[in-house]
Amino acid sequence: MPIWHPCTQMKDHESYPPVFMDRGQGIYLYDREGNAYIDAISSWWVNLFGHANPRIVRAVTEQLTRLEHVIFADVTHAPAEELAARLLAIATEGLTRVFFADNGSCAVEAALKMSHASWRNLGHPEKCRFLFLANGYHGETSGALGVCGDRLYAAPFAPLFVEQIEVSGPDCFNCPYGRVREGCDAPCFGAMQEAIDAHKDVLSGVIVEPLVQCAGNFRMYPPAYLAKLRQATTEAGIHFIADEIAVGFGRTGTMFACEQAGVSPDFMCLSKGITSGTLPLSVVLTTDAVFDAFYHDYVEDKAFLHSHSYTGNPLACAAACATLRIFEEDDVIAANRAKIDYLHTAVRERFAGYRHTVDIRSTGWITAVELYADPERRIPFDWKARTGFRIYQEAKKRGAWLRNLCDIVYFMPPYVITLEEIDKLADIALDSVKAVLG
Ligand SMILES: *Cc1c(COP(=O)(O)O)cnc(C)c1O
Repeated sequence: MPIWHPCTQMKDHESYPPVFMDRGQGIYLYDREGNAYIDAISSWWVNLFGHANPRIVRAVTEQLTRLEHVIFADVTHAPAEELAARLLAIATEGLTRVFFADNGSCAVEAALKMSHASWRNLGHPEKCRFLFLANGYHGETSGALGVCGDRLYAAPFAPLFVEQIEVSGPDCFNCPYGRVREGCDAPCFGAMQEAIDAHKDVLSGVIVEPLVQCAGNFRMYPPAYLAKLRQATTEAGIHFIADEIAVGFGRTGTMFACEQAGVSPDFMCLSKGITSGTLPLSVVLTTDAVFDAFYHDYVEDKAFLHSHSYTGNPLACAAACATLRIFEEDDVIAANRAKIDYLHTAVRERFAGYRHTVDIRSTGWITAVELYADPERRIPFDWKARTGFRIYQEAKKRGAWLRNLCDIVYFMPPYVITLEEIDKLADIALDSVKAVLG
């Protein structure tokens, strides 16, 4: 087989050949044999409104017959203009400029480069370092790996990139202060404050995933941390970069996670759900202050040089506009609330008493169940036992695509899932766990 798949030990395909997926409809994926799978993780967190959503299909099809792609330098077009206006209408206050890229990692690259270059243009070339959180994940291109606290992805390539400055992160599951997340005022912010104070003169900014470190084992933390971060970065005169690539567009219950802390960052990176999983697209939203630092007479001098061939692709922008129209027309954020509660309850009902459950945590549409060999004594499974991976295989047999993250079974379904389907999914999850662990 010539295809080398991402995030996969290819040897596994000897025992578990890849599923040959044929089509998708709503929350279901269908393979060539006609087996159906509930897409419980939204095809890697991107699909919000189901596969082959008719409203998105129509928008992309119409755009396809009009203008499929065009250079985006010195050109604009209706889907990009509409999308920019729609994004700024829902963005947190102060975000006024929209820069396009075509995947999440590249949005992070653009934000890091833009942050540093803005300081350089303002006469501060020494401001070139970034703080990032332990267990953070910001994509896998070289610049993004430099701010990646998740060692699994970063360590093997360490010689290839500039490692920025890691700060121990908030981690409510292992809270050293013995707090609970609800209503917590984030005393753990102290480590970040110290790092900012220590490195202030060379810092360009701080990058975090607001409220949930998804790839970092779904570590969740309270909004107070973000409020403190906003204040500390403003006081230090450095940028706050919010990577909302996974948590944006309603995943945490609000349109953007930063809203829950009542803060607005200097940069917001968005991708994943932006086209509801239809086409690759990402954006960096930023402020007039950043934009103005590049406004000058020559390209060669102060312009922001960062371009991708498919920047501002009209089809992707049309898919994103259709996605944002669904949010507006169906009042999705409000309509989601009852489903989110139902999902939390359904998972809790099944897993709370289970003997290998060490923690169940939820933020909005994200619910994660962490499994340990011995929860009482806090002993995880040996990673070589591949507990989570085996559970994922069992779930496939039972009709749910529940790709694990280490020994965590998590739920991040499309928003169009029904209450009955949530129950069905939670049942499959528990059955699959019991099939492996008894
Ligand atoms: C997925 C993800 C990225 C990277 O996006 P890609 O489109 O996969 O490059 C960056 N940051 C976060 C928080 C993500 O979840």
